[in-house]
Parts: sequence; C-alpha cells; structure tokens
Amino acid sequence: MLIVMDSAASAEDVRRVVDTVVGLGLQAHAIPGAQRTAIGITGNKGSVEAGAFENLPGVAEVIPVSAPYKLVSREAKRENTIVSVGGVAVGGPQVVVIAGPCAIESEGQALEIAQLVRQAGATLYRGGAFKPRTSPYSFQGLGEQGLKILAKVREETDLPIVTEVLDTETVDMVAEYADCLQVGARNMQNFSLLKRLGRVKKPVLLKRGMSATLEELLLSAEYLLSEGNYQVILCERGVRTFSDHTRNTLDLSAVPYVQRISHLPILVDPSHGTGKRQKVLPLSRAAVAVGADGLIVEVHPHPETALSDGPQALLPEMFVELMRQVRALAPVVGRTA
Ligand code: PEP
Ligand code: MN
Repeated sequence: MLIVMDSAASAEDVRRVVDTVVGLGLQAHAIPGAQRTAIGITGNKGSVEAGAFENLPGVAEVIPVSAPYKLVSREAKRENTIVSVGGVAVGGPQVVVIAGPCAIESEGQALEIAQLVRQAGATLYRGGAFKPRTSPYSFQGLGEQGLKILAKVREETDLPIVTEVLDTETVDMVAEYADCLQVGARNMQNFSLLKRLGRVKKPVLLKRGMSATLEELLLSAEYLLSEGNYQVILCERGVRTFSDHTRNTLDLSAVPYVQRISHLPILVDPSHGTGKRQKVLPLSRAAVAVGADGLIVEVHPHPETALSDGPQALLPEMFVELMRQVRALAPVVGRTA
C-alpha cells in the first residue's frame, strides 16, 4: 500500500500518517518527491485497510501496490531518482561515464588510467580493490591497499570513486574510501550484504545477476531501499544465454523496461556485457540510444598484462573515441554527456 500525501501536506501530517502505520505494527517509508511525499507501507501479510488513512489530514490518495517491489516502483515515486555520487548526478540529464580498470593493480597503473579517462571526459572512476574471481588462484585484488590507492586517485583527479564491496565484513572499510559501493553480479542476491548496505550512507551500484530476471533485480534493490538507503543505481551487465560469441548477452531491453516500472537510474556495462573490447563501442552507442543513464566501462593501457579482464579493456584511444561518440549521440535522445 502506498499513501500519497497532498502537495500542501505539512510535516506534521506526514508524521501522523507514519505514526498510524507504526501503530498498526507495520513499517512506514516516507519517500520525498519533488511535488509530494509518498509513504510506502511494508510488513503487512495481507491487504491493509485503506480507511485507516483516507481521512487523515494531508492524505491525497491511498493506492494498493500490486507489484512485489514497492519502494523502487514508479507508483511510490513518479519522478526519476537522481543519485549524487561524490557530487556527480546519476539519473539526471547527463549521461555519466564511469571508467577505469577492472582491478587496481598498483598506484602507477591506477593513476595513469585515471588521468587518461579524466582527460577524455569520464565523470567517475571505477576500479576493484576486492575482486570476485571464479578461481581462488586468480588475483583477488589489493584489498585495503587498493582502497588507499583509490583515495589517492580521487585526491589527484577529483574523480569520485566507484568500487566493489564483496562481503558484510568489509562494508565499513570500503564505505570509508568509496563514493559509491558496487554490488557485483555474483552478489546481487547476497541478502545479508544488501541489508547491511541498506544502512550505509553511501550510494550503491547494484549490478544485475548473470541469471537474474528484472523482477529479481528490482527486489534486490528493494532490500536496499527498505533498509533506508534510497541512493541506488541499477546496472545491466549482461546475462548468461546459449550465445557464445560474447562473454554474456547484454540485455539492452532491460533499460526501458526498468525505467517504466522504477524511478531508479540504470546504467549499462558493455565491458562485462560483451567481454570483447571491439564490441564495447558499438554496445555503448546502443546503450545511450536506448536511454541508459550512463555507462561503466573498463580501460587499460596494457591489457595484455592486466591482472583481470584484459580482453574486454578498452585501449586509451578507444575510450577517447567512445567519449566522442557518446557526446555526439546524447543530444539525439535529449541528454548531455
Ligand atoms: C566488475 O565490475 O569488475 C565486475 C566484477 O562486474 P560483474 O559483477 O558485473 O561481473
Ligand atoms: Mn571486470
């Protein structure tokens, strides 16, 4: 159930509704919007009696929410959510481009790539300090040392940092350094991690699991919002199919679908989505054309020596070209870049 407040409702009116919800033994989630506040109700087993709220002062409408996801839905909030990542607006008019290596390998490597992507026009920097690897013998990331390098990158380039958090034990540590915490595809349904991140005061970039439906993606986002974190960015990064010409199958139709049912921003990751550097540029164009709020791409000047994901890393000049094309395309779909 969703209670939509009148645009003229006072803070006192909102508080009265919240108190009434809590009095019924349920949870209330006030979602402030540009025009009005909506209050989502969760915790009910069956339907909630609308009559308990309809006549309270300031209440405009009581809407039963049929979708399994409530707080992430457009029913809860009509206008797009804009998430600020270290001052960069994600979900606004600008198509954001997050770029950097798959993994932080050394200070020199991280800084070299950061200078280069910043010069080309990237707005955020990515790089993993904790890497989820299929094999336990593969490079696992530099850990806290990698986070310290990321902090240095931000200091030197002013680019806010997006980096992955692998488990609940390291949430506080990663949150101390990062501007945005990435939940990787393999962790999309790590519910204890999601609940913990729901209580963190930093934005979360939630990647779609490699076999997850969009309903499952949105329900994972719902975990974050229901714990109080509304700064959530979704990311389509390809799913596993029978196709074997690419590493994954980049499901670009997810973008308009998610945008219809949710107010959260959605990015596209054509690097993991294809696994091949030659395919990153065409799929980036397609992502912008389909209306994605931004891209997250991997860049490496020496991919042959990269400690992870070398085959999909863009060479510096390819990233420059990507930025040029994104800037040219964005206005066609009413955006900037
Ligand atoms: C990554 O961004 O480097 C990564 C591991 O992504 P995913 O979780 O989408 O595989
Ligand atoms: Mn990677």
